[in-house]
Amino acid sequence: MKADLIIHSARQLLTIAAPAGPKRGAAMNDLGLVADGALAIDDERIVGVGTTREVLGQFQARQKLDASGHVVMPGFVDPHTHVIFAGDRADEFERRVRGATYREIMAAGGGIMSTVRATRAASLDQLVAETRPRLDAMLAHGTTTAEVKTGYGLDTANEFKMLVAIAALDAQHPIDLIPTFLGAHAVPTEYAGRADEYVAQVIQMLPQLADAGNFAMGVVGRRVESSRRRLAEFADVFCDEGAFTVEQARKILLAAKQLGLGLRIHADEFANLGAATLAAELGAASADHLVVTRRDEMRAMARAGVVAVLLPGTTFGLGQTNFADGRAFVEENVPVVLGSDINPGTAWCESMPFILALAARYLKMTPAEAIAAATLNAAHSLGRGSYLGSLEVGKQADVLLLDVPDYRHLAYRFGSNPVKVVFKKGKRVVG
Ligand SMILES: [Zn+2]
Repeated sequence: MKADLIIHSARQLLTIAAPAGPKRGAAMNDLGLVADGALAIDDERIVGVGTTREVLGQFQARQKLDASGHVVMPGFVDPHTHVIFAGDRADEFERRVRGATYREIMAAGGGIMSTVRATRAASLDQLVAETRPRLDAMLAHGTTTAEVKTGYGLDTANEFKMLVAIAALDAQHPIDLIPTFLGAHAVPTEYAGRADEYVAQVIQMLPQLADAGNFAMGVVGRRVESSRRRLAEFADVFCDEGAFTVEQARKILLAAKQLGLGLRIHADEFANLGAATLAAELGAASADHLVVTRRDEMRAMARAGVVAVLLPGTTFGLGQTNFADGRAFVEENVPVVLGSDINPGTAWCESMPFILALAARYLKMTPAEAIAAATLNAAHSLGRGSYLGSLEVGKQADVLLLDVPDYRHLAYRFGSNPVKVVFKKGKRVVG
């Protein structure tokens, strides 16, 4: 049979193949490793996987890539990012280093509201231009698909602008972007003391923004012509002390669910308000952060099929040590997912390999569990497990070639980039 490309002689080929659904428990340690592995790619898809002997025996390709000595694996899927924003918060970072707390900085008008001011002031073109280099860096570190949240607009016009920026970047950039509406990221200053009124406003924004795809195409012309889907696929709420209550989160998420949006929730990052339980009750796609989640809540998530998106880069970014208990989530059979949470306040990190390094040390996850969490499980958390996240026949050819001799080096080493070559939909986009 004919193929466009064969990648062969990989020291280790990680297929991460699984029967159906995300990996849980002991299955997270099974990466479907093929020694001396090979992959045949035709157009955008994987058409053959196996040992080098098997694949070279079965396929003839116009192009061959010798992966001797290297690890070949699926591209990372980053399921939780705030990568679209304007400006930076380096001043605030220095204040924190000098001893100010996150909440003190918020009270002084810093934190999320500082990025909201910068993002509101930026034009659509500026927002796109400032974000593109961050996506380039993510791609260079092996991220081939990423979820992106709004939440720095916090009014209809600026949340819309963020969603259009996501659609425009998705159309321009090799990384596939999956849009999440996070109008309930913070109560904006103009609604101070009137959180319930802002919640009502967010609920009004939902149908306008979720279904505005065609309208957006009219506004920005060619730039989003390739995105003929809804402007937002998921809705998310920051449910925590200093943000939104469980009752407010429930109202927003129920309204989103009625519109057919998938649900995600920022839960238990600082205080346990019961947000993980809410995620289980509503059948959310994911609950994220989960630093202070109890075991009984983990079991409720496992029963409801809610995946745990753990974000160790944020705990590290805040200079804290109270990491989420990744081991406990694996033990309780919750499908665990890892994300970067890239954002200008607490975690400006474009590198999923660094997140894996943190997960192994502080979340007590094995290198194999961390890899499954950042690929196949992350794809499932975004409703894309059927065609992303593993190297199986029929799946999209999003493939990494790593400059390491053994997959465990991904979590073992840190601070350098092990990703040498990136293929997105069968096309070489890095290296
Ligand atoms: Zn977040």
